[in-house]
Amino acid sequence: MPTELAPGVHRLATDYPHVCGLPLWLHVIDAGDELVLLDAGIASTPEAATGPELKKLGHDLADLTLVVNSHAHPDHMGGNAILKDRSGARLAAPAAEAGWLEDNETLVSELWGSDPAAMDLDERERAELFEMLGDRVRIDLLLRDGDLLPSGDRRMRVITTSGHSPGHIAVLDERSRTLFSFDDVQGRGQRYLDGNVWLAPLYTDVERYVGGLQRLLELDFDALVPSHGDVLTADQGRQKVEQSLEWVHDVHEFTTASLRRKGSLTVRELAGSIGTELGDFGGICLQTVRMARAHLELLGRRGGAEPRWHHPG
Ligand SMILES: [Zn+2]
Repeated sequence: MPTELAPGVHRLATDYPHVCGLPLWLHVIDAGDELVLLDAGIASTPEAATGPELKKLGHDLADLTLVVNSHAHPDHMGGNAILKDRSGARLAAPAAEAGWLEDNETLVSELWGSDPAAMDLDERERAELFEMLGDRVRIDLLLRDGDLLPSGDRRMRVITTSGHSPGHIAVLDERSRTLFSFDDVQGRGQRYLDGNVWLAPLYTDVERYVGGLQRLLELDFDALVPSHGDVLTADQGRQKVEQSLEWVHDVHEFTTASLRRKGSLTVRELAGSIGTELGDFGGICLQTVRMARAHLELLGRRGGAEPRWHHPG
């Protein structure tokens, strides 16, 4: 059942908890002449959930006029092709991620395949990813930092936060002072709905992730709305941002200490220890691999580590 967060702003349930074991919320905003959907879910979401949820509000998928992707991860843009087909809505997304948003192969090889010595997808995992990603369609409107969405009678501002993904955006609805943070504010990770394993935070660049979190702290808002969790008050939201910054600090200390102790480290070794010693994240996975690499790269940029290549044989 949709929940009203503010006049004209509704939170919609998705099928993601059943598919991936994590909460995922989409948001629809009534902006007079425009009906705006924030994020698209995975490929199955429009028909399994968004359509039925919109019906309860007296709308239909066909009524959508603008679909905004916060970033190019499957749970935020996999539904694009179906949504475009059913509604003809314009698709808007961060300019910095257009290449990923329009080409599944590029996304999968650059994100999941970035460190083949640390992690490799098997055929089943690849097939599952491509199923969630669905068909790709052209992005009609490329968004840059500071842009206002073409959202009818509501001013909705785009804030590039980056970090979690290269061009991740947050959106501030100025009328209701609601800040949609999508996947920016990850705290110390998130517990899966059906067990004790946690999903680790994901970021590909430490400084950009920290910079994005700090930008959120500078904004005026009454509610902070993440994609994978409950709505937070301004105070709770700021605390969660601070907690996210502390996590980054802790991982960096851990990385520096591990490297000092061992002398050398691979991305795989560091990902494995982050994924078991800093939390119950199941060891090596996309999140811990990208985090390990991001922190080693930061050390490299600051002269605290030196990357090397060696023959595997
Ligand atoms: Zn994401």
